[in-house]
Amino acid sequence: MTPAVYLDYNATAPTRPEVAAAMAACLAEPGNPSSVHAFGRAARRRLEEARAAVAELVAAAPAGVVFTSGGTEANNLALRGTGRTRILVSAVEHGSVIAAAPAAELISVDAAGRVRLDALEEMLAADHRPALVSIMLANNETGVVQPVAEAAAIARRHGALVHCDAVQGPGRLEVDIGAMGVDLLTLSAHKLGGPAGVGALVLAEDGLDLAPLLRGGGQERGRRSGTENLPGIVGFGAAARAAAGDDRARLRALRERLEAEALRRVPRARVVAAEAERLPNTVCLALPGLASDIQVMALDLEGIAVSAGAACSSGKVAASHVLAAMGLPAATAGSAIRVSLGWGSREEDVARFVEAWAALAARGPHADSERESTA
Ligand code: PLP
Repeated sequence: MTPAVYLDYNATAPTRPEVAAAMAACLAEPGNPSSVHAFGRAARRRLEEARAAVAELVAAAPAGVVFTSGGTEANNLALRGTGRTRILVSAVEHGSVIAAAPAAELISVDAAGRVRLDALEEMLAADHRPALVSIMLANNETGVVQPVAEAAAIARRHGALVHCDAVQGPGRLEVDIGAMGVDLLTLSAHKLGGPAGVGALVLAEDGLDLAPLLRGGGQERGRRSGTENLPGIVGFGAAARAAAGDDRARLRALRERLEAEALRRVPRARVVAAEAERLPNTVCLALPGLASDIQVMALDLEGIAVSAGAACSSGKVAASHVLAAMGLPAATAGSAIRVSLGWGSREEDVARFVEAWAALAARGPHADSERESTA
């Protein structure tokens, strides 16, 4: 049987072997990090080692790392915990940012999906209430990298706090909380080859006042109560160590080959936001005339896993607010699929995808021009 090709790392990266091993070892040991006996102290040690690894991944101090149940909780904690009532978020944020602040003002993006810094400046200048600005590091659908440091500098000039959802960054980009100039940064383990259900909100300043969402036993220094998900956190630490060593140049070369071959074989296709700086692992491909969900299902039958739009949570394909905010015509947006690579991706995977996708394009409507060019 031909092995399956997994090209959906932005939804969830496959668990790295070192992560599975670290988690299995942790599961074999009893102990609650809050217990004072030897088992508890050993558990505490494992917890703090993982905290140090996660902090190092983003060049933060370990004391600033608040472990959560994932990126969604970390985003909710950031957007609801600072006490700022005026909130500005980019129009292309993940649903967990947009839904956490339903009254937020949306900062528009340009046609390449980059947040408009002039719009941010104008919005902040027009209203002097203390604000919180939330701008993601890189978009999960298009891979577009945002000018976070520039946005943070503008926000700071206006006295705003800055949050960055950096979930798609580690292993693909340098992530340095100090260099970015943000106050709060969100991470999620399952995007870097760790387990789902664990993430972190990282604070640049330990002194930042943050109201907890969950109250109880006072874990995570009162910022997030609940017995820590120690196996998950240990897996997160192992994933953070591994992601720091990922070969980003290799990923970029794979992605570039995929794009070049896909466009050569299917000239009517286009790479969304091709003109913007993008994650080295992500390509959003539009194939006018063939709906995204049809492409995803047909590729699935060939054993190739990719995503359509932002259908990561519900399993159903909804119109993408990201592509709409970029002004993409509905027909183009409705034909876009996301292919995302990662630590386990190989050249054969890219070749199999291109082969299957080009064959699909050649079968679909508007395929005449490709028949000639693939001959
Ligand atoms: N932020 C971004 C940019 C994401 O891509 C995701 C996951 O799809 C999340 C947040 C949510 O993270 P989690 O699945 O850990 O809740």
